[in-house]
Amino acid sequence: MRPLYVAVVGSGPSGFYAAAALLKQREPAIHVDVLERLPTPWGLVRFGVAPDHPKIKSVSAVFDKTAAHERFRFFGNIELGRDVEAAELAARYDAVVYALGAPADKRLGVPGEHLAGSVAAGDLVGWYNGHPDHTGVPVAEYLTARRAVVIGNGNVALDIARMLAMPAQELRATDIADHAIPVLERSSITEVVVVGRRGPLQAAFTPAELRELGALDGVDVRVDPADLEAVSDADAEAAGSTVALNIAALREFARREPAPSARRTITLRFCSSPVELRGDDRVRSIVLERNALHTGEDGRVLAEPTGDREELAAGLVIRAVGYRGIPCPGLPFDERRGVIPHVDGRIEGRRHEYVSGWIKRGPSGIIGTNKKCAGDTVKTLLADLASAELPARDPDHHRHLAEWIRSRRPGLVTYDQWQVVDAHERALGEPAGRPRVKLCSIPELLRVAHSRAGQPTTGRKTT
Ligand code: NAP
Repeated sequence: MRPLYVAVVGSGPSGFYAAAALLKQREPAIHVDVLERLPTPWGLVRFGVAPDHPKIKSVSAVFDKTAAHERFRFFGNIELGRDVEAAELAARYDAVVYALGAPADKRLGVPGEHLAGSVAAGDLVGWYNGHPDHTGVPVAEYLTARRAVVIGNGNVALDIARMLAMPAQELRATDIADHAIPVLERSSITEVVVVGRRGPLQAAFTPAELRELGALDGVDVRVDPADLEAVSDADAEAAGSTVALNIAALREFARREPAPSARRTITLRFCSSPVELRGDDRVRSIVLERNALHTGEDGRVLAEPTGDREELAAGLVIRAVGYRGIPCPGLPFDERRGVIPHVDGRIEGRRHEYVSGWIKRGPSGIIGTNKKCAGDTVKTLLADLASAELPARDPDHHRHLAEWIRSRRPGLVTYDQWQVVDAHERALGEPAGRPRVKLCSIPELLRVAHSRAGQPTTGRKTT
């Protein structure tokens, strides 16, 4: 059987895991071309994982191994819908896997959400992680206030609370974007309030991330013991070990005395929903309404507004209520769920087009979750191709594909060129003991990628 040619669009964890699963196939051999909008690979590993979590980022070594495979090619700085169309990929490749992630944020749908100082989690996370799309977020203006409010009870909310509360000098040893360090050092924030609409038993965050808050230097964590009164140990155990450990950590926080030396406080509030953001030109306060919990017909615990409202002064409100996929030109889209509809990873109504990761199943799970998700999709793809009648391909098809892609985007970035950027960033970080100093603008990334040293040493990944 002739070799197969598969394009993977998106180079975050789900794209790389899909590539790895495809490359594992020996017969027929599969050539994998990964196309990426940015000049840099790794998606949320570079732009989502918090800078003080370097261990989680070490998965990039696994991606490097995949990229070193002789049948792998990377084409960065090329955008679907602008430089190439989905239909063109479908015509040239035997199959296409879309691993596009969930780059948009869910909205709260409350008045005042549009005000300056009301920020989507993705914008703030992208800003401190040096994502080229988010470097312009005027965070310094918002950190002149004393209080920040983070809406949501997931791990993204906790990442953000930690980043806003922790001593900024500790971030100097990380790969946080350089522009974020002085802004966080000058921050006037003294309290970060994390608001969950349901109770402690329903929180989506996980125990390790929760306990980290309690270990921050100079930071008090406050939990109102009343929020835990209705939670019995039996309820916590019945909800599983993650919830039980969360409850144990929250009880420990609720028992703590405020430390006189604390410079900042993280307050965890439950059973409250934002109903309005108030301000003139920018956010000055947020109105929260207390919720009562009741169990719905499907057994899910629901939050019901009680009418009991309170206004909190705040200069920054962050919506960390989940991400959303965005529609991709030429592909179907489920507006309600923010995903591409599929059956077992095969895009609904399409022949050899597939999805993997957050654009397939929605924004949930840790990085490793994408390995199984991508593996399942690749299983469907292989079964489909095994029984399909495929068009004959020219013996030079592999080279022609690269020529076609280059003709669409002459300034693209190969993996060799990315590795020049990678080495450059690591070298910049070395004198200060940092993992890297990130280049945060596309022109700067391209300048280094295309510098003389950045020319590919072999033709393997470019031809
Ligand atoms: P998430 O885990 O789904 O949490 C979203 C939170 O927002 C939930 O508490 C949800 O409450 C709340 N919410 C949704 N709509 C709301 C509304 N209209 N008003 C108020 N609250 C609302 O999402 P995430 O925090 O964005 O994280 C995404 C995924 O990445 C998760 O799987 C997470 O674990 C993972 N992640 C992991 C790490 C890590 O391992 N360190 C770090 C970051 C992210 P309800 O439950 O009531 O809907």
